[in-house]
Amino acid sequence: MRPIDLDTALREVVGGRTAAALDKQIGVVTVGELLHHYPRRYAERGELTDLGRLVVGEHVTVQATVEKATTIRMRSRRGAITEVVVSDGHHRVGLTFFNQQWRAGELRPGRSGLFAGKVTEFRGARKLNNPEYLLFADDAADGHHLDSIDGGGDSSDSGEAAADEFAATLIAVYPATAKLASWSIARAIRLVLDQLPPISEPLPEAIRARHELVGLDDALRGIHRPADHAQRAAARRRLAWDEALGVQLTLAQRRAAAAVNPAASRPHRPGGLADAFDARLPFALTAGQQEVGSEIAADLERTRPMQRLLQGEVGSGKTVVALRAMLQVIDSGAQAALLAPTEVLAAQHARSIEALLGDLALAGRFGAAESATRVALLTGSLPATARREALLDAAGGAAGIVVGTHALIQKTVDFADLGLVVVDEQHRFGVEQRDALRAKAAVPPHLLVMTATPIPRTVAMTVFGDLDVSTLAELPRGRSPISTAVVPTGERPAWVTRAWERVREEAAAGRQAYVVCPRIGDGLDEEGLATIEGPAGKEDEQDGYGAVLVDVDDPADAAADEMAPAAAVLTTAADLAAGPLAGLRVEVLHGQQPADTKDDVMRRFSAGEIDVLVATTVVEVGVDVANATVMVIKDAERYGVSQLHQLRGRVGRGAAPGLCLLMTGAPTGSPARERLDAVAATTDGFALATLDLEQRREGDVLGTSQSGRRSSLKLLSLRRDDDLIAEARAVALHLVEADPLLTGHPLLAAQVARAVDEERSQFLDKA
Ligand code: ADP
Ligand code: MG
Repeated sequence: MRPIDLDTALREVVGGRTAAALDKQIGVVTVGELLHHYPRRYAERGELTDLGRLVVGEHVTVQATVEKATTIRMRSRRGAITEVVVSDGHHRVGLTFFNQQWRAGELRPGRSGLFAGKVTEFRGARKLNNPEYLLFADDAADGHHLDSIDGGGDSSDSGEAAADEFAATLIAVYPATAKLASWSIARAIRLVLDQLPPISEPLPEAIRARHELVGLDDALRGIHRPADHAQRAAARRRLAWDEALGVQLTLAQRRAAAAVNPAASRPHRPGGLADAFDARLPFALTAGQQEVGSEIAADLERTRPMQRLLQGEVGSGKTVVALRAMLQVIDSGAQAALLAPTEVLAAQHARSIEALLGDLALAGRFGAAESATRVALLTGSLPATARREALLDAAGGAAGIVVGTHALIQKTVDFADLGLVVVDEQHRFGVEQRDALRAKAAVPPHLLVMTATPIPRTVAMTVFGDLDVSTLAELPRGRSPISTAVVPTGERPAWVTRAWERVREEAAAGRQAYVVCPRIGDGLDEEGLATIEGPAGKEDEQDGYGAVLVDVDDPADAAADEMAPAAAVLTTAADLAAGPLAGLRVEVLHGQQPADTKDDVMRRFSAGEIDVLVATTVVEVGVDVANATVMVIKDAERYGVSQLHQLRGRVGRGAAPGLCLLMTGAPTGSPARERLDAVAATTDGFALATLDLEQRREGDVLGTSQSGRRSSLKLLSLRRDDDLIAEARAVALHLVEADPLLTGHPLLAAQVARAVDEERSQFLDKA
C-alpha cells in the first residue's frame, strides 16, 4: 500500500463507514481535512466536568462518575428501563436506556468515563438524551486502558478494546454531533496519525527557528494527542501561525499583483491648487492631519499605486486630508473621484468641498481663482440635464473632483484622466466596486479608503491587510465632549419626558437635534431603503466593518424581532410634532424620499431652518451640522455598538457640548442593555470597536459563519493573536517581496492554495 498523505481519502484509511459518517457529520473527506478538525477543548483525565453548567438543548461530552444504576421492569408492557445517574460530585445527570439491562452491569457505581448526548430536562432533572459513553478502565490509576466504546444509538462504534484515544492525561474533545461522538472522531484521528508518515515541513527552517515554531508534523500530532499542556500550546501556536501566514501571504500576493501595473506619479506642484488651499484653510491642520498628509503626498508621487486606508474617529478631519490629496492630483493634471455610500452624503460632500474650496472651485464661472477647478456631483437620481453636464465635466476633465454614489461606477461614466479614487466610509463598498472604478483609469489610479469606524489592529491587518493603514488619532481642537445616557422607556417613563424637554431646551438655545428611528413607516421598510441607499444590504446591518460583519445570528437581533415593531420615522415625527415637541420645526429624512427632497431637507437643516430632524440611519455617516447638539436614538438596542457610536458622532461637532440619548425598552441586565451601557460609558471608538469584536465570533468578523461552511481560520483569534498576526504579516511581506509566486517554497504555496478555498477568497473580496 502506498503511504498515505494529507490528500489521501479517509475511506482508504478509516474504512468506508466511518469515512461516510465523517463526511456527512462534519464534512471532512481527506486526511488533511480531518487533521484540521481540531479539538474544541481538552478534558483533563480524572477532572470531572461541572455538570451544573450544562445548557439544555446543547450536545455535550462530559467526564463524570457513575453514582448508581437501577433497572425497573415495566408493568404495562414487556421490557425494562435502566436508569443511570452520573455525577461530578456535586450535580447529577440521568441517563435512560430501554431494554438494555446489561448496561447496569457495565455502568457500575464508581466507574468514570465520558458521556455524550443532548441535554434535556425532565421534571426538573437534567438528562442526557440517547446517551453514548466510553468508560475508562477500572484501574484508572495507570490511565492506559480503554475499557469499551459504546453507543446508546449508533452501534457502528462498538467497543474494540485496543483503542488508546485516552492514554494521555489530556483528552481531546471534538466539536461533535449527535450522530458522531467526540471519541469516534478521536479514534479516526488516531488511525490516521498512526499510519501517516512524517509530514513534510512547508515553512523554511530559518523562519521556524526565528519564530520558535514547532514543526508541522509535531503540531498536527500535538494538537490532537498532546502529552501535556505545553505540547498542546506549542501545537496550537504553530497551527494558528499557519492560518495567519496563509491570510497574509494571500494579501501580500494581492498587493504585489496590484503593484505590477505602475501608476502615474502625481507629485506635489508648488504654487498649485493644493498650496492655494493650504494658504486659505481657516484652521491649522492637526499634527495627525499633517503627518498623514505627507504620507499620502509621498505615496502619490510614487509609480506604485497607493493603497491606503485612512481611519479616524468621526470628526477627526479625514475629508480635509482627502481633499488635499485630491488637489495634489489635480495639480498634476489629473482628476479625483470621491465615492460616498449614500446620496445624502455625496451631496453633502460636494457641498462642503465646494465650500472649503471657495473660489478655487469656480472654474469657468465668474470670480474663479486662477488655476481653479470644478466639483461635479453625480448620483443616480440626478435630473437628466444635470446628469449630462456632470458626465461631460467628468469625461472632458473640466471637473477636477467628481463626487458621487455608486452611480459613478456605471459604464456610462468616463474620466479624462482619473488619478485618485477616494472611497468614503469604506464599509459600504466592496472590492469589486473599488476595482470597477479603478478600471475607469488608463493606468491604475491611487486609492484612498476612509473609514470612521475604528478598526482593531488585528482586523486591519487581516481583513484590510492589503492596504497600508494611517490613523488620525486626535480630534481637532475645539471639539466638545459628548455625554451619553441610556433612557429606559419602560422603567423610567419620566426620563423620556425629560429627554424631550432637553430637546426643547436646546432648540430654545438655537441649537438642533436628531431623532433616529429604525424604520421609516407603514409599508416602507429597510429593504426599500437599501436599494435606494446603497449596494451593501439593509442599512441596519451595515455595522462596524460593513458587509463582512453582518451578524444574522445575533441573539440581540432575534430578541429585537420578537418585540413590538420598532419606532418609525413618519409616526414618530407626527407624534412629536403634535406632542412633546409641538411648536418646533420637525421634519423627516429617510432613504425613500426623492433625492431633491433629501437634498432640500439636509440643506435646510444645515441652514438652521429645521429644529428637529427625525431620520433613519441615513444620518449615520458623515453628516456634519455643527449646530446639532442632541442625538436621540429610539429603540437603540436594535443597533450595533459601532453604529451607535457613529450616530453619536453626529453631535458635539461644534462649540456646544453634545448629548446622546439612547432610548430603549431593553430591561436592565439584558445583553442589549449591557451593550448600551457600554456605549454610554465611553466615547473611545477603539475601545468600542474592540467590544464589538468581543461580542462576535471570528467567523462573523470574516463573514464565514453564515455560509455554514468551514472557515480556514479555526484557531486564530482576532482578539488575542495580534502579535502572532503581526509576525506572520512581516514574514509574508518579506517572502512575497523576494518571491511573489512562492516558486521557491512549493509546499508553502500549496498550503496557501489549500487554505484559500472559495469562501476565503469570497471573504477577501468582500473586504
Ligand atoms: P471626518 O470626515 O473625519 O468625520 P471631517 O473631515 O468631516 O471629519 O471634519 C469635521 C469637521 O471638522 C469639518 O467641519 C471640518 O471642516 C473640521 N475640521 C477638519 N480639520 C480641522 C482642524 N484641523 N481644525 C479645526 N476644524 C477642522
Ligand atoms: Mg467624513
